[in-house]
Amino acid sequence: MDFASDNTSGASGPVMAALMAANKGAAMPYGSDPWTAGAEKAVQELFERDCSVFLVPSGTAANALALAALTPPHGAIFCHEDAHIANDECGAPEFFTAGAKLVGLPGARGKISLSTLQGALARFPRGLVKQVQPSALSLTQATECGTLYALEELDALCAAAHGAGVKVHMDGARFANAVARLGCSPARMSWQAGVDVLSFGATKNGTLCCEAVIFFDPALAQDFAFRRKRGGHTLSKGRLLGAQMSAYLQSGHWLDLARHANAMADRLRQGLGETPGVRLPWPCEANEVFAILPRAADVALKAEGARYYHWGARGLAGDEAPGTEEVFVRLIPSFATAPGEVDHFIEILRHALKKA
Ligand SMILES: *Cc1c(COP(=O)(O)O)cnc(C)c1O
Repeated sequence: MDFASDNTSGASGPVMAALMAANKGAAMPYGSDPWTAGAEKAVQELFERDCSVFLVPSGTAANALALAALTPPHGAIFCHEDAHIANDECGAPEFFTAGAKLVGLPGARGKISLSTLQGALARFPRGLVKQVQPSALSLTQATECGTLYALEELDALCAAAHGAGVKVHMDGARFANAVARLGCSPARMSWQAGVDVLSFGATKNGTLCCEAVIFFDPALAQDFAFRRKRGGHTLSKGRLLGAQMSAYLQSGHWLDLARHANAMADRLRQGLGETPGVRLPWPCEANEVFAILPRAADVALKAEGARYYHWGARGLAGDEAPGTEEVFVRLIPSFATAPGEVDHFIEILRHALKKA
């Protein structure tokens, strides 16, 4: 019963098989190999656009290097105050941009509203020398709360950013889960909405260690190969990244994996919702479930070996905060979660609550 994160799982079977196959024989290094070329072509086909594609081994590298391509050292990067780039990357975005400022914006359920963004843009007037200059907006889809921006919300946020001369980055660590939920094309949820550069996550959803940075405007990508190499994220045996991404995208494998993770999250949320004493603060819109559990249930689940994180009160409104006999938890099923793990979790929970 492992719901700590979707990256506690390994790689999917087809991705591992592709790695083993690519491991045979020799290939030119640093991405000059047929697997990398094939992966770039597959990404372009998937996104229905002639975009610039760069493979990197981690999401932090994808985000930080992508933001560095959009932002000068004196730039402002607007993001949600709970964004991964602001809280979980050890300052990598600041490091790779050579010191740009992350401006964290508040917002319910992990989302930035249009009016909040407009207010922030107004607080950073262009040309005022004493302030950092508005440069990038970073949106996370699905969000850190497992919620989704609707397509129209993305359209409006991107339009407001562009209207102020600000480029848009999307942190798509769970891009697949979001596309599977919205039932839209990858193009619609990215460049057609106005996203300029996408961190196309894949590791959480089935690769071993491979993400893609996708520039929909190749002009923005001019320096990226140098940035990636200088930052130590250009793998010499690049074919091992290309093989992962190619297998991930082949025949819709990536979406099958995401649909499974989403279905397991739905199963979990339904079980929790039908258990008296459990509170669910917001809907599960991707593959993350947030729940307020009675403390006795939390103790029993941990004792039986269930793994998940306590989440403090992040994302909750004041009147939703957990009571002294409750804990707020984050539960994330992955592509590899078995239905039985979910059912076992719910059984233990109910058993504990009956006794309590
Ligand atoms: C997991 C995650 C990332 C990538 O993290 P790495 O550990 O660097 O691969 C980026 N953004 C979000 C929202 C994530 O959840």
